[in-house]
Amino acid sequence: MRVVLFSTKPYDRQSFLEANSSHGHVLTFLESRLGADTSGLAAGFLAVCPFVNDHVDAPVIQALARQGTKLVALRSAGFNHVDLQAAHDAGMTVVRVPAYSPYSVAEHTVALILALNRKTYRAYARVRDGNFALEGLLGFDLHGRTVGVIGTGRIGTALVRIMRGFGCRVLAMDIVENPDCKAAGAVYASLPDLFRESDIVTLHCPLTPETHHLISRDALNRMKRGVMLINTSRGGLVDTRAVIAGLKSGAIGYVGLDVYEEEGDLFFQDLSAQVMQDDVFARLLTFPNVLVTGHQAFFTAEAVRNIAETTLRNISAFERGEPAVNEVVLSHVR
Ligand code: NAD
Repeated sequence: MRVVLFSTKPYDRQSFLEANSSHGHVLTFLESRLGADTSGLAAGFLAVCPFVNDHVDAPVIQALARQGTKLVALRSAGFNHVDLQAAHDAGMTVVRVPAYSPYSVAEHTVALILALNRKTYRAYARVRDGNFALEGLLGFDLHGRTVGVIGTGRIGTALVRIMRGFGCRVLAMDIVENPDCKAAGAVYASLPDLFRESDIVTLHCPLTPETHHLISRDALNRMKRGVMLINTSRGGLVDTRAVIAGLKSGAIGYVGLDVYEEEGDLFFQDLSAQVMQDDVFARLLTFPNVLVTGHQAFFTAEAVRNIAETTLRNISAFERGEPAVNEVVLSHVR
């Protein structure tokens, strides 16, 4: 099948070309993001493969459908950027990669927790500058602390296992309780209880209309003073302006982000020679107790390989007319 991949980088090309040796699709790699102004580039392609910050809204889907596209093969787990109703109405199938390595994101979450706690990102810079003073680097034992995990699917549960290994108490919140998460040692709690008791709050639920700005000013007011907030899920879960206010007042002690609500214009590109236009993001970067990574939590060799293999398998199954196992259907958001 002829497949066009949007928002690609050299590492996408490498992983997809390797995985494609057993599928034989005709792959076209584009650097452009998919959106209203670029949808014309997909003319003549039965399958379109977007990434997390591409716009797959109703006008784009209708434009793709008019050009003959039948399949949107997401190379991500999250599908919050796709208008599923529009895809349904256009008779277009949407598939995704539901699981490629929950460990990649769970382990990056732990990397953020440890770095913020022990301030290794600051120590690295100090030591290279010949400054071996310890003032300002005081951390805390994770052992015995309470970690609140919101969203206990694949990634949340992988994280629970790791944090239990540190000797943490883990409180969990989800709209559906996961027996594996309980077996791993988490205790389910209500959101207000989780907020009140957790030293670390970490987000692992999808971005939906219900979870948009789940971390609001009100939510932050319910948390322990000095709480550590971690978001490796989707930027829209957090009201960034409320977080900045919480950092300024000292209500929040640490913030670790791999995602940001306006990341589409920033992440996955080298902007180091440009003037930052996003004042909210720029303010965030001024805090010594904030650590931001650019949506790299998924980026391990295992995950990248699995993403390419599953995406191409999804496309092959569609081409053969088999039922799509990884189809995203409207009930996912209803
Ligand atoms: P999953 O589907 O296995 O788990 C998501 C969990 O969230 C489910 O248990 C679901 O019931 C729960 N949930 C849904 N709505 C909720 C709500 N309102 N309140 C609480 N819980 C709710 O997904 P996963 O593989 O664990 O991935 C979780 C999220 O991580 C994805 O949605 C994606 O946004 C994000 N992600 C980020 C990266 C990255 O690189 N930073 C990579 C992969 C996934």
